Amino acid sequence: MNILITGGAGFIGSHLCKAFLQRGDYIICVDNFITGSKDNIKEFLNSQNFRLIEHDISTPLYINDSIDWVLHFASLASPKDYITYPIKTLKSGLLGTHNCLGIAKAKNAKFFFASTSEIYGDPLIHPQVEEYWGNVNSIGVRSCYDESKRGGEALVYAYNRQHSIDVRIVRIFNTYGPNMQIEDGRVVSNFIVQALRGEDLTIYGRGNQTRSFCYVDDLVAGLLRIMEVNYKLPLNLGNPSEFMVSELAKLVLKLTKSKSKIKFLPLPEDDPKKRKPDITKAKKILSWQPQIRLEEGLKKTIEYFRRKLEADTRGSIRG
Ligand code: NAD
Ligand code: UDP
Repeated sequence: MNILITGGAGFIGSHLCKAFLQRGDYIICVDNFITGSKDNIKEFLNSQNFRLIEHDISTPLYINDSIDWVLHFASLASPKDYITYPIKTLKSGLLGTHNCLGIAKAKNAKFFFASTSEIYGDPLIHPQVEEYWGNVNSIGVRSCYDESKRGGEALVYAYNRQHSIDVRIVRIFNTYGPNMQIEDGRVVSNFIVQALRGEDLTIYGRGNQTRSFCYVDDLVAGLLRIMEVNYKLPLNLGNPSEFMVSELAKLVLKLTKSKSKIKFLPLPEDDPKKRKPDITKAKKILSWQPQIRLEEGLKKTIEYFRRKLEADTRGSIRG
């Protein structure tokens, strides 16, 4: 298949590119590298089946090739990044989604939108089911992300209703693993990098807020399955095992054998108090469920960051 993926040089996007190339697909990867990295895709750059287009998808893109699928994964995704770049975030989720839907329509391609658990906001029901409409502060600091994805979902269904575009929407819950950036800022990468550097682990608030962490290989397996089934409504994908942020910090300290201490910082505005996906639908429709426990996924991620930090140190000594 010919697949156009935006955000293909990012964390999740690069794992998807790898999976598509392994099964023989042709990839057009569109990325502006605002948070992505050439390192994540360097092993694909010599492949005849991989084409990189450096482009901001908030502006229109015209493609000559025929395309079977358009996957829109480009977005600032870490709270640290989207709070720094709220306008770019809204543009990626709204204008970017519109541009990608335009490509899908012109090419008669199927469309796949990377939505998020953040569309549920600070949820009032727990765990979150797909039917829940959410609790989002439309003018808060996180609204640039939440509303860009909510608006993105609305655009996807508008194109589905008006132009009969075949669509998939997945609401991704906290996912972690190799190919995250050292400075990503999300909790798993922050804690691991801090522990490996011997710096204090920064817990925001009291650390009793919860998240449910999915290892990237499990997520990618679910994303590939969604492309194989004919299901057009939004689907939650994530790992339903729920942890307090303080539990995650202790586990990272144990697995890295780090002597780092824990430092408590103020809780950011509108930080959701709990989050856990209800994956009943994904289990039934995709015959899918996460296989990798947090400890196992963290070990693999710690090894990745250990190597990355060593390479960084070697680079800066040479430089
Ligand atoms: P990431 O930051 O690693 O990847 C995003 C990629 O998009 C980067 O390569 C970045 O350079 C690119 N990008 C951003 N804006 C762009 C633009 N305007 N034009 C072209 N490229 C642009 O983040 P990720 O975790 O891999 O997230 C990928 C997608 O999955 C995002 O849409 C995100 O909202 C969604 N998601 C991720 C998670 C998660 O836990 N990782 C959870 C929910 C949703
Ligand atoms: N968090 C933390 N320390 C950090 C980074 C994040 O305590 O160094 C907390 C954050 O306040 C949130 C949770 O960890 O409650 C998950 O944050 P993340 O940035 O990974 O993404 P979110 O799930 O909030 O989108």
